[in-house]
Amino acid sequence: MAISIPKGTHDIIANEARGYDYIEEVCANIATVYGFDPLRTPIFEATELFSRGVGESSDIVSKEMYTFLDKGNRSITLRPEGTAGIVRSIITNKLHAQADLPLKYYYTGPMFRYERPQLGRFRQFHQFGVESIGVNSIFEDIEVILLGYEILRNLGFENITLKINSLGDSMSRANYKSALQTYFKDKVGDMCEDCKHRYETNPLRILDCKVPFDQALTVDAPKMKQFLSESAQKDFDIVLEKLDTFEIPYELDDHLVRGLDYYSGVIFEFSYITSEGKDYGALGGGGHYDRLVKELGGPALEGVGFAFGIERLYSVMRDENMIEEKLVTDDVHIMSIGDEARTDAIDLGEALRMMGLRVILNYEDKTLKSLFKRAERSQAKFAVIIGEEEVKAEVLKVKNLQTEEQEDVAYQDAVNHIVGLFKQHHHDQECGCGHDHDHECECGGDCKCEDGHECECGGDCKCEDGHECECGGDCKC
Ligand code: AMP
Repeated sequence: MAISIPKGTHDIIANEARGYDYIEEVCANIATVYGFDPLRTPIFEATELFSRGVGESSDIVSKEMYTFLDKGNRSITLRPEGTAGIVRSIITNKLHAQADLPLKYYYTGPMFRYERPQLGRFRQFHQFGVESIGVNSIFEDIEVILLGYEILRNLGFENITLKINSLGDSMSRANYKSALQTYFKDKVGDMCEDCKHRYETNPLRILDCKVPFDQALTVDAPKMKQFLSESAQKDFDIVLEKLDTFEIPYELDDHLVRGLDYYSGVIFEFSYITSEGKDYGALGGGGHYDRLVKELGGPALEGVGFAFGIERLYSVMRDENMIEEKLVTDDVHIMSIGDEARTDAIDLGEALRMMGLRVILNYEDKTLKSLFKRAERSQAKFAVIIGEEEVKAEVLKVKNLQTEEQEDVAYQDAVNHIVGLFKQHHHDQECGCGHDHDHECECGGDCKCEDGHECECGGDCKCEDGHECECGGDCKC
């Protein structure tokens, strides 16, 4: 019997995996611009890291951890989130003593939560996250929110809503918690078992209970904003003012508490609603934490961070056709018939690959019809046909699969010719030189910039200078 994939996991295949790579690359590039460096931590850690860090009252720790004893009888947990591991790494490696603060790291990789599998919820999923640790200024929080927004904008999201709330400082929160306990005192008996537990451990979490009966009871509950200290309110006002300045639309959400116990101060979630009104829910979220580093045995440093769910980002981008053009299609299918043709085909294939083209060959004798069907299915751009006659004449056929135009090309010219076709092809779409050309490029399709080296024209394409091109022979100037 075939072995099935574990419940709640999924294989991420080919173009979907490429979509994830693309998303992670955009996230990393923007985080780099904001001064963050990568940090990779293990995907398993001592269980205590999460029970102490994320908090016993969170769903993650109380219900969802993948915990096991290793062969040395140590309690190990597959990481359910990224922040605790980053903080542990900072403490383990004493990074706070070696580098200037704030320490700014980003991470990406799989997370594990034993959740009930449902649409968009997996037991192994992927996150991209950032943490900025060590400078306790509301402007650090603002920077991190701006970074999250900028990542989404660069991925092509247009109607992002930022849900935002402030949990205030520890004094504000303690007062609020006791007000909630007073409010829920005569109601908690009728509420779900989780809420009974939350009432004792962290009554704030009652506010994000998903049970409709319990939700109805929270409507008239006291609001956090009534308990914010003067300085917490002032900080929150600065954040909102800056969001206005940067024209980031936000919604104040009294019931936003986030599922992890370590948050304090400003917390937020990015959610996405399409222009047609389809609500995709939270793409990611985060917030400020004041005691996590100390609680895990480090110095009293505060931090701020967020995490995006890669599955969530990808599925929205796929549904909304935001990622299609990032998918790779084949450049050339070399179709060979017969063993002699095969040896010429592999030579040509290698030469084209050295020039950066994605080349697919066939090593079985299939009909040309079925080979063309295959090329069509993978949206290949050109087909090269080498049969017995072509081998004898040392002339192959090149067919543009979009225009259906076909031409004969001598073996000796094949590589330059086919590479040239691609330069023309790319050039028709867009000059890849990255410079602003407000003049006509006169290179006739072989713009030097396409060769991957720096355009040296400083805006005036080199070809206009009339001197020898240094690109290696293909350029027409
Ligand atoms: P959290 O760490 O719970 O704040 O989650 C941050 C983001 O990770 C969410 O907004 C989702 O996009 C994603 N996420 C969280 N849990 C899951 C899951 N079980 N499956 C897929 N994505 C998830």
